[in-house]
Amino acid sequence: MTVTAIPALLDNYIWALVSEGGGAVIVDPGHADPVVRFLDQEHYHLDAILLTHHHPDHIGGVEPLLGYLNARVPVYGPFTALGQVAIEPVHEGSRIVLPSGMTLTVMAVPGHTTDHVAYHGGGLLFPGDTLFSAGCGRQFEGRMEDLFESVQRLGALEPSTRAYPAHEYTLANLAFASSLEPDNHLIAQYRGQAQKQRMQNRATLPTTIGLEHDINPFLRTASAGIRTAAERHAGRPLRQPFEIFRELRLWKDHFTAQEESR
Ligand SMILES: [Zn+2]
Repeated sequence: MTVTAIPALLDNYIWALVSEGGGAVIVDPGHADPVVRFLDQEHYHLDAILLTHHHPDHIGGVEPLLGYLNARVPVYGPFTALGQVAIEPVHEGSRIVLPSGMTLTVMAVPGHTTDHVAYHGGGLLFPGDTLFSAGCGRQFEGRMEDLFESVQRLGALEPSTRAYPAHEYTLANLAFASSLEPDNHLIAQYRGQAQKQRMQNRATLPTTIGLEHDINPFLRTASAGIRTAAERHAGRPLRQPFEIFRELRLWKDHFTAQEESR
């Protein structure tokens, strides 16, 4: 099983899990064209589609992709239909057996949207727009408490878990993370590496849950430096990890408003 990034739209990654037999499972095809090109070039066939949430940059390519390929494959997602396409609805605890035999478990991770799910199995995690490298998704629907819980749940997975978020936001996120913890040498080191990768037009992803605990402010609310920075910004003491998380998330909304408008 290999996992390949298909860059799409402005800064999305559509992930392709490809089995040894050339069957591709496509995660969040926001745009059909790059997926069609990828499958054509590599002589892969489409096995299934996984959707994490209903935002257009994650689902926009589903109907055109199935239409163009004239394919009937299972489409999994946290809703029942998408235009003319029937979706196999998934929820917390759903188990999906892919044609390759690999099993993925669904985690309900509300907060970015109320319907958001993540797919997890075989040491891999597809968190959609809930967890990014060095950051987390914006809270658009539901409650900030939900987003906090969801991010902590993903952070509680095995440290070796490889996470494949849906956007290349790493450098913008690291700019914020560095401003919070200027003395964190792991952030500085990772930022240097990510800058080099982006200069070569390479993806900074996947990341690992273990790495995120070292560099992601939203998983570091227990760190004294993060707490001090959040309290300084709030102008008052913040006692609970959730209060620190909420302060960071609202602060970040203004810090990089443009990068995260979707
Ligand atoms: Zn989204």
